[in-house]
Amino acid sequence: MHIRIGFAYTSNCLKKPAFFIELAHTSPLLEPGRFTFSGIDGIIYENPQKEVNEVRKKALKITYFLAALALCVTGLCACAPKSETASFFAMNTLMDITVYGADIQAAYDAQSIVNSLDRELSATSESSAVYAANTGEAARFTENGAELLSRAFDLCKETGGALDITVRPVMEAWGFTTDEYRVPGESELAELVKKVDFSAAAESFDGALLTLPEGMKIDLGAVAKGYAADRAVESLRAAGVEHAVLNLGGNVALVGANTKGEPWKVGVKDPFGKSSYVAVLSVADCNVVTSGGYERYFEENGMTYWHIIDPETGMPARTGLAAVTIVGESGVECDAFSTALFVMGEEKGLEFWRQIGGFEALFIRDDGTIVITEGLQGSFESSSDWEVAHREG
Ligand code: AMP
Ligand code: MG
Repeated sequence: MHIRIGFAYTSNCLKKPAFFIELAHTSPLLEPGRFTFSGIDGIIYENPQKEVNEVRKKALKITYFLAALALCVTGLCACAPKSETASFFAMNTLMDITVYGADIQAAYDAQSIVNSLDRELSATSESSAVYAANTGEAARFTENGAELLSRAFDLCKETGGALDITVRPVMEAWGFTTDEYRVPGESELAELVKKVDFSAAAESFDGALLTLPEGMKIDLGAVAKGYAADRAVESLRAAGVEHAVLNLGGNVALVGANTKGEPWKVGVKDPFGKSSYVAVLSVADCNVVTSGGYERYFEENGMTYWHIIDPETGMPARTGLAAVTIVGESGVECDAFSTALFVMGEEKGLEFWRQIGGFEALFIRDDGTIVITEGLQGSFESSSDWEVAHREG
């Protein structure tokens, strides 16, 4: 058994130093991840402040108890850790991998897979393959990196170009890559969208080497976290982990059900910021991924401009939606589709869902009302007005 009284931290909501947090990993009373969030970094609790206060009180009592126990009867203590969390920063966001009834090493191994994908796929790190490709070099990708690239090109095609990983020159023009925001002129955008063409980029990829046509740049921000979740989940399962919650910056992946055999509760963030969440999904063994304009935006002259771009116009996608959440088995697909359906809008998005299937969707409209696809009925709760979209009709 691990009784660690050291310095570390875990879920964002429990921003408390060290010894207390580590005990949270080992105490059944402090089970983290009872309520996980899609669309925001970190794990939250139903009533965060109350929860934190209660948890702190319990933690202090348990600290003394466990410290005494550790000193006196270390060898006799046979209770397995309830949960352990690896918290780290990768892909420009905070990530948590929490395993239940398993060794933390499994979470660390999953973390290192995410870290190496981050090193390879970051568009800003000078040593990455994506950076090399974007500067016109013949860039070599690892097996995982190459698999993601070819999946991404396929998904761009499948979504009819609503997802287009060659959108980077446009992202740069808006300043989303540097945080130096500006509104590009019409003619500038018209020139830039000529360089947005995933099919030309796909032709320049031979399965390992990518040599982009001049002026083209790729950005895997719409799919990388989803793919990383797939590889991390694969590694956890291979290590025998049966219950885990991965929160990769709001991309949630769930291994199994919770330790009681019940579905996990995943909150869908309120895109309007009025409350913490607008809906709760009770789900297991799947991914829950949210894309929304609220995640990254700037305001100028009373207008809001966000980071999800319509590849046809180079403008932020405005389709009457505040956010889209996708639930499905494949992390990379959920990630790709959450971005793509945000670009498509509700009507085309539902049409796409009817044609392609294999996933469920939740649309939050600009007026706050919600549409869920029929497969989410029974696992969805919300106090907002909501309706169900059916496969037929
Ligand atoms: P996500 O948060 O998964 O919806 O991905 C958004 C990120 O993907 C943005 O920050 C951009 O880096 C990139 N992106 C924006 N628009 C698109 C698009 N239409 N297709 C592909 N990637 C995009
Ligand atoms: Mg995405």
